[in-house]
Amino acid sequence: MTAKLLDGKQIAAEIREEVAHEVKKTALELGRPFSPCLVAVLVGEDPASQVYVRNKQRACEKAGIEGRTVRLPAESTQADLMKVVQELNEDATVNGILVQLPLPKQGNGGAGFDEREVLDAIDPLKDVDAFSPINVGLLMQGRPRFLPCTPHGIVQLLHRCDISVAGKHVVVVGRSDIVGKPMAMMLAGRDGSCGREVANATVTIAHSRTEDLKSVCRSADCLIAAVGVAEMIKGDMIKPGAIVIDVGINRVDGKLVGDVAFEEAKQVAAAITPVPGGVGPLTIAMLLHNTLLAARLQMA
Ligand code: NAP
Repeated sequence: MTAKLLDGKQIAAEIREEVAHEVKKTALELGRPFSPCLVAVLVGEDPASQVYVRNKQRACEKAGIEGRTVRLPAESTQADLMKVVQELNEDATVNGILVQLPLPKQGNGGAGFDEREVLDAIDPLKDVDAFSPINVGLLMQGRPRFLPCTPHGIVQLLHRCDISVAGKHVVVVGRSDIVGKPMAMMLAGRDGSCGREVANATVTIAHSRTEDLKSVCRSADCLIAAVGVAEMIKGDMIKPGAIVIDVGINRVDGKLVGDVAFEEAKQVAAAITPVPGGVGPLTIAMLLHNTLLAARLQMA
């Protein structure tokens, strides 16, 4: 069997087009210029973070969203960063705020930043990454406001590829607040953002203490790997005919690879996301979606 490739890049382009269309349509409805504004806060000079922020800014521009970046030196203090977040919260021209993670370890006088305090300080109505306790709580209660971008991108991908997980066994490997946990919640819920077929799954969350990970993974109709360990999911950990979603982004000898051993996996799975070109582009597309949503919520 050779797995079908799930083209996240193509689907992300469709979603970005839809956002651009909605931005234009809203301007027409309002009868005045309308350009939602997303501000990225970038602390320090980390090259990967700079690339991510630049890519987000470019994607914003193409969708008719204003993308701004506030840059702070790596040696800024927690108070400096909190002040920037507070100012952005109070600035009515700003609709979405994202603080690019990870924050530099050497910051705040060498003590490192309190990431949680910074994320908690973002106005929940501008929290386009959906990291604030309010937005996480709303998701847990099945009445989400913003959905976290990476898991929401995966839901969109499954929906637009006509893949149903309702009643199926989904195994999510990884339990981070950013990917694993919200992914599990979204697929186990009753009403998904893309309808009931991309929800209502029987979900298992696996992690570094899971015993016999191979058997757990092999029992999955849909396996979602969000681990951050290059190619750790081998072909023999995949049930023949399963759907495999690879969230991992790992750099090995200058090359990007996922958490799944792609060449082995594609011989076993029915469908699989590539790395790059799978989940990554969807994350940015859903960030644009959330920025538009934020601008609309703030108008209401
Ligand atoms: P994270 O916060 O480091 O969490 C990793 C999770 O994997 C943890 O729950 C950890 O378990 C688990 N884990 C680690 N080693 C394991 C092992 N050997 N067996 C089973 N579970 C193991 O990472 P993350 O932020 O969720 O990111 C995961 C990956 O996705 C990274 O490669 C990241 O770069 C990528 N990512 C991609 C996108 C995208 O847009 N495509 C977005 C976000 C993240 P414990 O909890 O027990 O430690």
